[in-house]
Amino acid sequence: MRNHAHSHSHHHPQSRRDFFRSLIGGALAGASILELAWHRAAWARALVPTADPQLFDIEKVAEGVYCALARAQAEINSNAAIFVSSSDVLVVDTHSKPSAAASLIAQINKEITPHPVRYVVNTHFHWDHIQGNHAYRAPGGKIDFIASEATKQVMSELAQQRLQASLDEIPKQIDALRVRAGKSSSTDEKAFCDEQIRQMLAYQSEMKVFTLELPTITFGKSYLIKDTAHELHIEFHGHAHTAGDVVVFCPQKRVVATGDMIHGFLPFIRDGFPKTWPKTMDSVAQLGFDKICPGHGPVQQSQERLMDMRNYIEELTEKVEAGKKAGQSIAELQKTITVASLKSMQSNGYSKYVSDNQYKYTPNFGSPAPLQDGVNTNIADVCNNLERV
Ligand SMILES: [Zn+2]
Repeated sequence: MRNHAHSHSHHHPQSRRDFFRSLIGGALAGASILELAWHRAAWARALVPTADPQLFDIEKVAEGVYCALARAQAEINSNAAIFVSSSDVLVVDTHSKPSAAASLIAQINKEITPHPVRYVVNTHFHWDHIQGNHAYRAPGGKIDFIASEATKQVMSELAQQRLQASLDEIPKQIDALRVRAGKSSSTDEKAFCDEQIRQMLAYQSEMKVFTLELPTITFGKSYLIKDTAHELHIEFHGHAHTAGDVVVFCPQKRVVATGDMIHGFLPFIRDGFPKTWPKTMDSVAQLGFDKICPGHGPVQQSQERLMDMRNYIEELTEKVEAGKKAGQSIAELQKTITVASLKSMQSNGYSKYVSDNQYKYTPNFGSPAPLQDGVNTNIADVCNNLERV
């Protein structure tokens, strides 16, 4: 969700083996045995499922279908959808780091099924949905990573940059937390800041080593997995949150997993297609489902919140386009297009729904950030992406 800013530095994909070779022969040639051992230990720790406290709450949404709701973490984790087939499992999205995915694998084995994970679907290329992929390769069983062709392409181009962008944010974020802790007289607030810093440092150390797992199965429009338990339809319905979003639809269980095309936060539009996105959601809404397992936020029990989000994107895009045509700058648009002025925000309690979800599922202490901050980011992103179709 956050920290998707472009970075212009170039990073080459590194396998774990390459990483250690480069440690020995490259930049860390002078590193002591102790330092090398530290890096190996960090990697080992990262793959221990119990390294972190529980990161997910698994909710059953239908027979053999579960949604793993990601608890608030400093480096955001996506939710995962879990489809249990007759002899194996398909998981949708892999969070921001392998240790989070390893933690979920352990939780699946403990709470749901001993069946191995055979398929991973990446709904789109964002770092908080793909960076855990390698944890599913690590157990050594047969595994395929499924995504749209567009997602594979953009993952190849941008995954390393986006990882780096998330790492580049950390020193600034830690400084801000230290300042906040220093000013605060609340021991609870200080403890909150310390815990956020701990999580950021853990992410930083784990992600020094990153193995990009690109999709091994790609498709243009749809890919079908048939099982005696159910069918899983992995479908591309058009441009939306990114150029390659797919949904995983199970007609027998009447569930759809949607990644960030449909979720309980404000949309993230920096890589999005604001004019096409609502139409793509309309197309997904035609599928026969009762429940949505979204990329972030709670399970959705009807199409109500899907329509709220759709209407918000459509209304915001119309207002930004009209204002832009009238010559307004982004700063001016941000002054005139307010939460209070948006019909879509005011109807059906949508602004409260989004605020409450963002507060619960991302780290917060004290009063919530004003929703207008997020709307302002959306305004700028829509403005920049208006011409995309
Ligand atoms: Zn996300």
